[in-house]
Amino acid sequence: MGWGFTLKCTKCEYEMRAHLESGYALPKETLETIHDMKAGKYGKAAQKFFQENPEGSVDCDRYLFRCKECGNIQVEMVLDLYKPKEHVPELSYPNIYPVVLPGYYDKAMELEHKCKKCGCKMELQNEDRFLEEISEGKITCPNCGGHLEADADSWFDWD
Ligand SMILES: [Zn+2]
Ligand SMILES: [Zn+2]
Repeated sequence: MGWGFTLKCTKCEYEMRAHLESGYALPKETLETIHDMKAGKYGKAAQKFFQENPEGSVDCDRYLFRCKECGNIQVEMVLDLYKPKEHVPELSYPNIYPVVLPGYYDKAMELEHKCKKCGCKMELQNEDRFLEEISEGKITCPNCGGHLEADADSWFDWD
């Protein structure tokens, strides 16, 4: 399932389209990400995790992250790492297998998300609270500190 919104600054040119995704729609991304993690493209910690947990998986849902230092807003894959419990069900559609199934995996590790602008740690945002804080003016434009508007017309939803 995916949905999104557009953030626009009322003072400057800042515009950001947030396309968020969660659920079972991402088996291809999950397989590719596991492959890249095993190859070391996501750092040593993730590579070691898959050496120790070859049946492990990763959460590739896309969520909002915000930098506490500079206020930069990014949409990123969550990339939490999961260990399977004793019985992961045999699924008839093998491509679905690596997607983290609720109840069959335990969260084992979270990877750090670094801000593309300043390199500091980013924090996962609850999107409902995030939009509330936008409307209350607590979250402002990362470029100029101006007022942000979430474009309600562009909300979409499919599955
Ligand atoms: Zn601005
Ligand atoms: Zn930052």
